Amino acid sequence: MKIPLSKPDISQKEVNLVNEVLNSGWLSMGEKTAEFEDRFKRYFKVKEAISVNSGTSGLHLLIRALGIKEGDEVITTPFSFIASTNCILFEKATPVFVDIDPKTLNIDIDKIEEKITKKTKAILPVDIFGQPVNMERIMDIADKYNIKVIEDACEAIGGEYKGYKAGTLAHGSVFGFFPNKQITTGEGGMVITNDKEIGDLCRSMKNQGRASSNSWFQHERLGYNFRMSELNAALGVAQMDRLDEILIKRGKVAKLYNEKLKNIDGIKTPYIDKNVTKMSWFIYTIQVEEGIDRDNLINYLIEKGIGCKPYFAPIHIQPHIANKLGYRENDFPNTLTVSKRTIALPLYNSLKEEEIDYIVSKIIKYLKKLSR
Ligand SMILES: *Cc1c(COP(=O)(O)O)cnc(C)c1O
Repeated sequence: MKIPLSKPDISQKEVNLVNEVLNSGWLSMGEKTAEFEDRFKRYFKVKEAISVNSGTSGLHLLIRALGIKEGDEVITTPFSFIASTNCILFEKATPVFVDIDPKTLNIDIDKIEEKITKKTKAILPVDIFGQPVNMERIMDIADKYNIKVIEDACEAIGGEYKGYKAGTLAHGSVFGFFPNKQITTGEGGMVITNDKEIGDLCRSMKNQGRASSNSWFQHERLGYNFRMSELNAALGVAQMDRLDEILIKRGKVAKLYNEKLKNIDGIKTPYIDKNVTKMSWFIYTIQVEEGIDRDNLINYLIEKGIGCKPYFAPIHIQPHIANKLGYRENDFPNTLTVSKRTIALPLYNSLKEEEIDYIVSKIIKYLKKLSR
């Protein structure tokens, strides 16, 4: 059996819409991009949605739109995908890490205030593995100190905490559409915000610094080419129309894993905060208990044809960050421990129950061999 870690769910609808763009001869800055952005405005009930060529680009635009620069500090988590820290470094600002809550794996909100200084300009929380962070509490802290919040919601599209959607409370938020995400555009991202000024700045900077009213060769500010093509946007429109269906299917897979993996000695299934009213499953991770060699288990599963990966490596010890900021492994013990124990298992819409049974049986078999 060969089971990949992830697989996009592309229906005939996606194929038709992309073909429509190909046949139209209009491949960038057109109708489909506008439609895709519109889908986000409606789904999230926000004023602004700005499509970009990646989630990383979206995060970078928000850092710039908030005027974050050299000498400024941004509080964030070391347990994430590298982009949530790199976007701070792009502008020569300083990421200040706060360790994670070992249960939810999201930033430990109780430890944020002690890291706030005069230089702190923003907090950048990440909704890890699709579990929305408690944004009400983060916004309260930000209001108290008059700082901004950028939510990296790249892993949590459609997820809800106490009934509000991930990405809707922050000053600006970002979603990502790499092929392993819940919905994909091949490559791509979306910024959402209710702040018109932030929206205008992002729209200008993603398009070479042009103002919307300006002609092609007038540039008001330093900008980039972070635009999404019509092909990617067409794919996105079809995927967005299927988002609820896709989230339900992913939820079913996660539920099967939860049922089949519970009460197995040696591993833990994901902890979901009771205030999470809707999970948006990005990946399904288990944690091995102390004394079990995680990497050996991964190698064993790969040998059996099961795609799996350690998720994530701590950001604070990545060479370019440790060298610059002088962090050591033990500075964030929860991040370190969790990152040594997690395994992401295959999760995608068409994953069949027999395949899940196969994966679970191999995990059990490995653990039994150990206990003999
Ligand atoms: C996927 C992801 C991003 C964006 O990645 P891109 O490949 O640039 O689209 C950003 N942050 C996190 C936490 C992610 O998982």
